[in-house]
Amino acid sequence: MNKICVFCGNPPEKKNKEHVLPQWLLKMTGDPNRVVKFGNNYLEGKEIIFSWKRFTVPSCTKCNDKYANLEGEVRPIVEKLCDKIEINSNEAIKLLDWLDKVRIGLWINYYYLEKNKAGINPRMFIENRIGRKDRFMQIQFLESNKKSDGLNAFGVETLSFQFNPSCFGLRINNILILNGSNDFVISENCGFPFPKKIESVENGMLSLKDWQYNRTVSKKISGLKLLKGVLTVLQPIQTEMNYETNYFSDSYLIQNCIDREKRIGTLFRFADDDVIPIYDLNAELYFESVKGKDVKIIGELISKVYEGQNAFLLRVMSGKEETFERTIESNKKHIEFYKEYHKNFA
Ligand SMILES: [Zn+2]
Repeated sequence: MNKICVFCGNPPEKKNKEHVLPQWLLKMTGDPNRVVKFGNNYLEGKEIIFSWKRFTVPSCTKCNDKYANLEGEVRPIVEKLCDKIEINSNEAIKLLDWLDKVRIGLWINYYYLEKNKAGINPRMFIENRIGRKDRFMQIQFLESNKKSDGLNAFGVETLSFQFNPSCFGLRINNILILNGSNDFVISENCGFPFPKKIESVENGMLSLKDWQYNRTVSKKISGLKLLKGVLTVLQPIQTEMNYETNYFSDSYLIQNCIDREKRIGTLFRFADDDVIPIYDLNAELYFESVKGKDVKIIGELISKVYEGQNAFLLRVMSGKEETFERTIESNKKHIEFYKEYHKNFA
């Protein structure tokens, strides 16, 4: 396997190593030199164990430096959330960028670790994927009697994630972040134009058909029904679309975009039973209260990662490809496992 830079996808210039999960995050969640469990390979009954410090992927020195600022900006945002302090929409967007970076970094990391078990030819890198497609995140507070430190990633170990790194979970101490991003995955939710029919053709290319544009919002995300979280935000990003809409004359898009040139929508949030656009990006995003029947065990929250991966894979699945079927079935086992999982993660 040829070494490629995780940021630009070229052979690394002035070779460097990028920590997929940065040092500040390791320090924040425990001993940075620790060896930790990184999910389970349930199918083979093996734990996946790494030393965090060695969790690196190749990168150019220049590319690595370029993204150092983002790490510095995101750190206080994550700290706020862990302290249950509200963040604003600009901060949420920054966090979404970072989640794009981490998600793709983990995906490339597993590509090396598992010696490309999905037989893919990576065309996505951090540089050409960050802030380029529809995305969402949901924050959950994990209630626990004792203060619990720890860092876990969920969903990154599956074959499904290797095919399409669409959805993953990150537990940082007492919060759990569910993050997803995929082509037009939340456009319909935000009232933006979306293709009703998406088909995977060759080499990760998509065929988009049956465009619809309702200008109405909805809560169910492309086949995935989310649980209630303290904060759920969505951002439509249609940079790579070929639908003929005029972003400069259509009143709905004028109102709901923050960059019409790049077709980047504003942030939307769940608010009780509604999805609402946010126009003041500096205003704090209040936390929704999750109580009563909305309170779920940690495993059930995590199971949504695997449900999301399945839902997003089924969106593009054409016909009955055997590998896809196997991937979906394997994720179902993860879902079953987590739905029963009560314990806290360390
Ligand atoms: Zn590079």
